[in-house]
Amino acid sequence: MTLIDGKMTAAAIKEEIKAEVDQRIAAGQKRPHLAAVLVGHDGGSEAYVKNKVIACEKCGFKSSLIRLDEDTTEEQLLDCIRGLNNDPDVDGFIVQLPLPKHIDEQRVINVIDYRKDVDGIHPVNAGRMALGLPCFISATPLGIITLLQRYQIPTSGKKCVVLGRSNIVGKPMAQLMLQKNYGDSTVTVCHSHSATLKDECRAADIIIAAIGRPDFVTADMVKEGAVVIDVGTTRVPDANSKTGFRLNGDVKFNEVAPKCEYITPVPGGVGPMTICSLMKNTLAAAKKEIYSN
Ligand code: NAP
Repeated sequence: MTLIDGKMTAAAIKEEIKAEVDQRIAAGQKRPHLAAVLVGHDGGSEAYVKNKVIACEKCGFKSSLIRLDEDTTEEQLLDCIRGLNNDPDVDGFIVQLPLPKHIDEQRVINVIDYRKDVDGIHPVNAGRMALGLPCFISATPLGIITLLQRYQIPTSGKKCVVLGRSNIVGKPMAQLMLQKNYGDSTVTVCHSHSATLKDECRAADIIIAAIGRPDFVTADMVKEGAVVIDVGTTRVPDANSKTGFRLNGDVKFNEVAPKCEYITPVPGGVGPMTICSLMKNTLAAAKKEIYSN
């Protein structure tokens, strides 16, 4: 069994990004600038945004954090987004999800300029990705593909089961694994109404679990020699932790790991790669690599 080290891989990629940024600055080009909008004070979101700001520093990017109160109206948030769309210094920005319940998330996403949508959640980017056209790819699926590539894990012709069908993880992940120039796999997507989920998993060469159900994938669902990617990060109470909680994956790691050829841990697997992909997308935005205007 090989443990896929997302933390180490992400650190190496951030160094590569930093080296490129240093070269660009030396050549008189602008420092890439990522902005993040955080509405309210959700503990998880605060932590994610903080990690993104730290990653920007590591990559030599400029970062701005825009904090809005929990009771910010949808119109106020949309105005803030329009401001970022029109700010020539901002190369890319993210709106940290989830948003407070009184705000229509999809309406907010639709207003983001797709050329600055480094999270890859705007319908233009999601649609272009489905068609295999150049676009900003959603950060978590891109991070997983990068891990598979860096560990040279064969995916072409393999049977891949994606658990979960959310717009930010499950669906784009399945699309990427399906595409010829990425996974080139035979893909099955399972969700909460899938009657044959366990059987699909047992037949899979690669399982990508993104459902947010701690320890859902058990040893009896995994075949010998499978590759298991655990996206799940659910906060579960833990009296031994300083914070009072720990992050738990969707995979029952201790019993599944011995059967796997490769497996990602939680934490330290997919999580660091998600942030690193956001940095890659921001650099691509600064370089106008995908959209030239
Ligand atoms: P989500 O929007 O809540 O979607 C969950 C998906 O899982 C849904 O499609 C749901 O099915 C399916 N599901 C839920 N319970 C199930 C069950 N018992 N059996 C089969 N399918 C089930 O979640 P998400 O945003 O995709 O995130 C999934 C997990 O990944 C969460 O733990 C999240 O924290 C984590 N995550 C981690 C990262 C990272 O960087 N590490 C990034 C993003 C998300 P239905 O569609 O039928 O409801």
